Amino acid sequence: MTRYVFITGGVVSSLGKGIASAALGALLQARGFNVRLRKLDPYLNVDPGTMAPTQHGEVFVTDDGAETDLDLGHYERFTGVAATKRDNTTTGRIYADVLAKERAGGFLGATIQVIPHITDAIKEVIKRDTEAYDFVLVEIGGTVGDIESLPFLEAIRQLGNELGPEEAMFVHLTLVPYIPSAKELKTKPTQHSVKELLNVGIQPQMLLCRCDREIPESERAKIALFCNVRPSAVIPALDVSPIYAVPIAYHDQGMDREVLRHFRLPYDGEPDLSRWRKIVDSMASADGEVHIAIVGKYTNLLDSYKSLSEALIHGGIANKVNVKLEFVDSEIFEKPDAVLRLEGVHGILVPGGFGERGTQGKIEAVRFARERKVPFLGICFGMQMAVIEAARNLAGIADASSSEFPDCGTAVVGLIKEWSHGNVVERREEGGDLGGTMRLGAYTAVLAEGSLVREMYHGAATIQERHRHRYEVNVNFRERLEAAGLLFSGMSPDGALPEIVELPGHPWFVGVQYHPELKSKPFEPHPLFAGFIAAAVRQARLV
Ligand code: GLN
Repeated sequence: MTRYVFITGGVVSSLGKGIASAALGALLQARGFNVRLRKLDPYLNVDPGTMAPTQHGEVFVTDDGAETDLDLGHYERFTGVAATKRDNTTTGRIYADVLAKERAGGFLGATIQVIPHITDAIKEVIKRDTEAYDFVLVEIGGTVGDIESLPFLEAIRQLGNELGPEEAMFVHLTLVPYIPSAKELKTKPTQHSVKELLNVGIQPQMLLCRCDREIPESERAKIALFCNVRPSAVIPALDVSPIYAVPIAYHDQGMDREVLRHFRLPYDGEPDLSRWRKIVDSMASADGEVHIAIVGKYTNLLDSYKSLSEALIHGGIANKVNVKLEFVDSEIFEKPDAVLRLEGVHGILVPGGFGERGTQGKIEAVRFARERKVPFLGICFGMQMAVIEAARNLAGIADASSSEFPDCGTAVVGLIKEWSHGNVVERREEGGDLGGTMRLGAYTAVLAEGSLVREMYHGAATIQERHRHRYEVNVNFRERLEAAGLLFSGMSPDGALPEIVELPGHPWFVGVQYHPELKSKPFEPHPLFAGFIAAAVRQARLV
């Protein structure tokens, strides 16, 4: 039997609903169940792919090429279950599908309405392909009370009624603020938020109360009484660090036990949390620190680089060292000598990005890493910048650039209109749609024998990594660039698309066209991040 847990949020946004959902997933796994996590986003974009990362955080890409909400990254990092395009839906997607069906005559004769047509479509999305799972956790984006999320709430209310309590449970995440002048914790926002949910017909069975301090038994009892929830199902969710301690903290507060109890499943035993204890212990016993500069453009919203920051932390776990991240806006390097700011760091990372602003600074940062022999990792746009830097400063192509930018000189990086994916040819038109049309999802790369990356990937001849980009390094420049010292150590199976470049003779210099950060897990640090941080540790010993 598949059981559904619906997770809503109240009071304010940014309470960490994604991590809470992911942690519950991890706890249920630790009890021996298999889980799948899903996210329903109330905004009208068909997917987050066209949004600036500073709006909504990073765009997380799945193996099957969906551009999804960053919470799916939390789900993967906590459960290890690879998400698919089925696991994230938006209001825009639902409406687009329903309207397409209406145009095609799929509802001939009917008046199309939010209830039942939109809500039916939502219910279908929630239940699609879930038969194989013991638990499906469905997170509803936004905050209860928003106009936008109403159709989703209505759909889960209906589902709750159709499935009954044996198969459905509602968990509501709220905030219990501390008011310093009164020296008191306040339960009223939680009460109001639950009332708001009751207005749309949903009675939560568990409250997860975010709070910056212990919630006394008396306050828990008060919340339980006013919100009609079992006192033991009022779960204090205190701030914990690192985030990988969250499953342990929630377990200590009884979360997994209460969920099983709701579903009338045996709840006496203990979950196997050894995986999480090991991660937390290894982070606590880390010795020394390395400083990594992330030279990017969206540095004012750290969620823009969520998976990247986590992957670097995983690299630290692999090397038992603390990783200190320094986000640096690349535009500062456009001033003379500003690049010297990178002198104290032990590794330089140029992440993914779009558009010309800030690129000169990124190229300066690559040059600094190359010339000063500082470990370097270039990801996607960062790899493209590394190739442009090498073309300009090693191969003598002074006007080397990318056709992504206006006034591009020699396009060593260019728009590609046709490429193969397995045995399928994918195409894109110049001036075509921008949404969902990049090279997206998992592609194979073949690694050159004897290369650094081959060693990093433990000798593997081929790898699969996730992509999200429109432009490619032009393979026609391979010979010139290799003659100048840049090795093309990873290629697409047909040899047409450069996937990885490295710099032999440099302590650790790797540029990858894909996004390795999307596949890193705390219990399985990605080999490139483990290797990059290991190189940073060696660098730290040198300086
Ligand atoms: N803007 C570049 C491209 O579209 C890189 C994209 C990225 O870094 N994800 O190819």
